[in-house]
Amino acid sequence: MNTSTIDWRQRANDIRPDGRAVIAGRRVAARDGETFDCISPIDGRTLASVARGRTADIDAAVAAARQAFDDGRWARKSPAQRKRILQRFSEGILAAKEELALLETLDMGKPVQQSLAVDVASTARIIAWYGEAIDKVYDEIAPTPHNALALITREPMGVIGAVVPWNYPMLMASWKLGPALAAGNSVVLKPSEKSPLTALRLAEIAVEAGLPEGVFNVVPGYGHEAGEALALHMDVDAIGFTGSTRVGRKMLEYAGRSNLKRVYNELGGKSAFVVFDDFADVARAATTVAASMFYNQGESCNAPSRVFVHERIADEFVRIVTGEAPKYQPDDPLSGTAEMGAIVDETQLRTVLGYIEAGHGEGARMVAGGKQARADSGGYFVEPTVFDGVDNRMRIAREEIFGPVLSVIRFKTEDDAVAMANDSPYGLQASVWSDNVNRAHRVARALRAGTVHVNQYDEDDITVPFGGYKQSGNGRDKSLHAFDKYTELKTTWLRIDPA
Ligand code: NAD
Repeated sequence: MNTSTIDWRQRANDIRPDGRAVIAGRRVAARDGETFDCISPIDGRTLASVARGRTADIDAAVAAARQAFDDGRWARKSPAQRKRILQRFSEGILAAKEELALLETLDMGKPVQQSLAVDVASTARIIAWYGEAIDKVYDEIAPTPHNALALITREPMGVIGAVVPWNYPMLMASWKLGPALAAGNSVVLKPSEKSPLTALRLAEIAVEAGLPEGVFNVVPGYGHEAGEALALHMDVDAIGFTGSTRVGRKMLEYAGRSNLKRVYNELGGKSAFVVFDDFADVARAATTVAASMFYNQGESCNAPSRVFVHERIADEFVRIVTGEAPKYQPDDPLSGTAEMGAIVDETQLRTVLGYIEAGHGEGARMVAGGKQARADSGGYFVEPTVFDGVDNRMRIAREEIFGPVLSVIRFKTEDDAVAMANDSPYGLQASVWSDNVNRAHRVARALRAGTVHVNQYDEDDITVPFGGYKQSGNGRDKSLHAFDKYTELKTTWLRIDPA
């Protein structure tokens, strides 16, 4: 997308984001009037005072959502009516695309042209996709004996709590909102305290598009306050969570301590990228891993952060990746041309630099990057970093860094590669690179991950499910399968008497 004619820096100076919550279709301050500062990772400036939602605010939002659900203002609209409103919501997102892209970039640091071309465009598509799907899904009739009829129908669950992270704020919200709203539920969304601004605007746009008041509420705040209150709430029917495995565990505990609400966790990853020596185009594999790893500053749950390369081609592979890394040197995310932007905040910057130090300490060999960048900007930037000679037992190979740090691990045999790739608590995504069709299929089957790519890494679409094995979560976002998370399955038996 050509954004070169837009003066993003000027617009950034002019924008005055509204940090108040959206409850029952209206902007409101926190009940106790408290706020927290929303800081831009680009230069450390304060973007807005944001409502610090707590239990009272969550209670108000859940009550509004419950009332909206119970009176049927949304759930009892026909699927075609819901479709039309969601299409208008999607159109509203596109009409505000530059504002949303700017807010996303200012809030979490990714290059603005990527916010526009990927985050905003995909969010609009996802909302429209679920809207368009909902009047095309049919229920079932069971193959019962002649004197009975059993209808198997899907019903909306009620009030859905969505708790999402900061790395793709709008997109992660839309993966919950699309299926939950299309199915007829009401939603209370708790965005990350590090990136609340676009979620708040989305709720306003939805109301303008005709979504009835109370159907979609947004309460910003901290995880241990607003997030916990939502997940413990007795009147929330399900939690759609995306975030760390640490907090995913808590979500399950909260459900156990409250009303056993359904918990759908989309959690962390440490994705394996396995390159065999029978794959001829080593350069394509190497450039793909660099592009996928350094996209979004490495702050992607599915970043291919563990690369397993056959020892025969490893030197060539590392040489190419090392040459690619500087192309992703961070730059001002508002320039319109940056390949990599800012790390979300100072805490995350320290975490990433800490892992780089740990890599050194454990004996891995750093072949690219490794330092903080653009420190005089007042923002938080890290160079694209590559470690060679990594052992799969090192911390940089086991723990999710969530920054631009790639680990290269060499292997000798297919069995070793598969065993090491699967030796991880995570199982979100993986890929195998081989020109041998038998090996490609064999290894794709053996890899324990929710998504496996063969000879590519970038394909992604709302039409396919996304989620993890093992401690990467349960349930699946995206595709028609996401309706499983936000609907109850009901069986209705009818007796049919003979004439
Ligand atoms: P996080 O777990 O720290 O926070 C996620 C959300 O949970 C935030 O809104 C936060 O405020 C809230 N939260 C934090 N503590 C809470 C608590 N005690 N109770 C209730 N809510 C709480 O994660 P993050 O740092 O925002 O995001 C990064 C993580 O998200 C990474 O692990 C990444 O892999 C994961 N992620 C997964 C997917 C996926 O689809 N599997 C997609 C994107 C990101």
